[in-house]
Amino acid sequence: MSCIFCKIIRGDIPCVKLAETAKTLSFLDISPTAKGHALVIPKEHSEKLTGLSDESLADILPVSKKVAKAIGAENYNFLQNNGRIAHQFVDHVHFHIIPKPNEEYGLG
Ligand code: 5GP
Ligand code: ZN
Repeated sequence: MSCIFCKIIRGDIPCVKLAETAKTLSFLDISPTAKGHALVIPKEHSEKLTGLSDESLADILPVSKKVAKAIGAENYNFLQNNGRIAHQFVDHVHFHIIPKPNEEYGLG
C-alpha cells in the first residue's frame, strides 16, 4: 500500500514518535504549522473519519490528551480534515494538535 502514514506505522519511513498504543501512533508533523505540531493517527487505514472503526476511534481522544499534555501547549487547536476541499492531503485519518504560541497574539 502506498499510503505514507501506513509506511510510517510499518517503520518504512522514519518519524519523530511521541506516543504509541496498540491502535494508535503519534508523531511530529514534518512541516509544522507551529513548534510541537503533532499528529495522532489510528493504525487502521481509513481515508476518512466516517470509515474508521469505533474500536480505533476509542483510543484517539485519550492518546491525544496525553500528547497535548506532553507537548506542553497551553493553547492549541485539535482538528481533523476530511476530503480535499476540506484541506485533507494525506488520505489516512489523522488528528492535528497544533500549539498556538502566545507570541502570535502579542501576549508572550
Ligand atoms: P492534512 O492537510 O491532510 O490534514 O495534513 C497532513 C499533514 O501531514 C500535514 O500537516 C503534513 O505536513 C503532514 N505530513 C505529510 N507527510 C508527512 C510525513 O511523511 N511525515 C510526517 N511526520 N508528516 C507528514
Ligand atoms: Zn494508511
